[in-house]
Amino acid sequence: VCRRLVGRTAVVTGAGSGIGLAASRRLASEGAHVVCGDVDETRGKAAAEETGGTFVHADVTDPEQVEALFRAAYDTYGSVDVAFNNAGISPPDDDSILETGLEAWKRVQEVNLTSVYLCCKAAIPYMRRQGRGSVINTASFVARMGAATSQISYTASKGGVLAMSRELGVQFAREGIRVNALCPGPVNTPLLRELFAKDPERAARRLVHIPPGRFAEAEEIAAAVAFLASDDSSFVNATDFLVDGGISGA
Ligand code: NAD
Repeated sequence: VCRRLVGRTAVVTGAGSGIGLAASRRLASEGAHVVCGDVDETRGKAAAEETGGTFVHADVTDPEQVEALFRAAYDTYGSVDVAFNNAGISPPDDDSILETGLEAWKRVQEVNLTSVYLCCKAAIPYMRRQGRGSVINTASFVARMGAATSQISYTASKGGVLAMSRELGVQFAREGIRVNALCPGPVNTPLLRELFAKDPERAARRLVHIPPGRFAEAEEIAAAVAFLASDDSSFVNATDFLVDGGISGA
């Protein structure tokens, strides 16, 4: 592994599991100080311990906790170079527009979209002062295709993440800040396993449509996160960065 992030500080939300955990490991292995934010204390602490980083209990829907997360990064390590705004949820039940209730819809927007707004709002002021920063917001391939997943609130929230990332990437480019949306395809994480455990048929249907015929491993997404975090991606900005095995193009 290369060491592209020595001396940089990376904040990761949802660091305790899946993509966030794999990214925390990868960013740390490339030399970054990792600040692991999660609502799950046990998993978040374990991630921080393993990566030699710092755990901050942060519910990404809470503005004060989000501010405290980025402040802790700055206070502990002296900069906020990378914000991997990744925490998100998948709706528990059938989320077809015909079934989903307004409260469930609002909850998904809050955790998946408002959270990204809050994290960007908290991170960008530090990056402006430094004249440097990379923001990576986890969206999903579903925002790029009619996935027929019946997950309307999820798909809409991720579409919002794409649009917001593009807008911010354009707005702050002259200040040395890049903002990209990361669009993973289906990844073998607890989130996906839970979804498919309830509906194995759905897993089988989904597999057929993934060109490589398998789900991604979280480490394959983490490799893209490290690229986007590093100066190797210095001219990559305001993109929908697809790491989806070609599913959205198929
Ligand atoms: P995961 O469930 O394995 O991990 C999510 C982590 O986020 C958990 O540690 C959880 O505690 C944390 N979290 C949940 N709500 C939070 C909150 N309010 N505040 C702080 N932390 C919170 O999920 P994952 O598969 O690693 O997904 C990570 C991101 O990737 C999500 O945004 C998800 O929508 C997106 N994504 C996942 C897939 C996939 O197939 N797994 C595909 C595309 C996009």
